[in-house]
Amino acid sequence: MSLSLIKTWIFDLDNTLYPPEENIFSQIDQKMTSFIADNLEISNEEAFNIQKQNFIDHGTTLAGFMNSGNDKIDPDKFLEYVHDINLNSLQEDNDLRKILLLLPGKKYIFTNGTKKHAENVLKKLNLENIFQSIFGIKEANYLPKPNLETYNLFLKTYKIDPKTSIMFEDMGRNLIPAKELGMKTVLLERKLPNKNNSDQEEKYKDLWNDNYDADYIIDDIVKFLNNQYS
Ligand SMILES: [Mg+2]
Repeated sequence: MSLSLIKTWIFDLDNTLYPPEENIFSQIDQKMTSFIADNLEISNEEAFNIQKQNFIDHGTTLAGFMNSGNDKIDPDKFLEYVHDINLNSLQEDNDLRKILLLLPGKKYIFTNGTKKHAENVLKKLNLENIFQSIFGIKEANYLPKPNLETYNLFLKTYKIDPKTSIMFEDMGRNLIPAKELGMKTVLLERKLPNKNNSDQEEKYKDLWNDNYDADYIIDDIVKFLNNQYS
């Protein structure tokens, strides 16, 4: 299948533009647990269970608290706290930079994290000045992927035609609305890092590698794009 008709390239950020082995998202994950435990005055284990149940039921942990009207979790404080992490493991990805610059059309970041977090990560990866815009969780009015409403808002904001768009994601469920709207979909199959794999994380690991029948299922974004465009 040719991608020659694609005019808009839409990328998730975390675990898509860099692999989970970098231990970036796992830091966010752990900070979510401690924020919840501290603010709800519960154990880390209880906090982790709520965190993951919210994630399953509402798209993100934060959305679960917002939907249930829990005022002990302040959305902006939560987002600031969980994204305050160490990005030193991220290296410049100049191969990715090169191929992204060759892609015809506009490129966007569409993330359930904050725009500020995305800017920090893109800077470390040397992927600045490539993307037209970053659509983060605040731009989405705190309604995360995979809510269809948020995809519609994203498309409307930038006047994007989904029929000439392609979306890259490491989570299959976030591609389902994209497909419904007529986008091409690419699922990055990511391995969970072995380190820090507690029993609990083991229990929930299927969430990350959920089976979704994407147009393309790949394990290397640079290789995939290079095959299309060089
Ligand atoms: Mg992701």
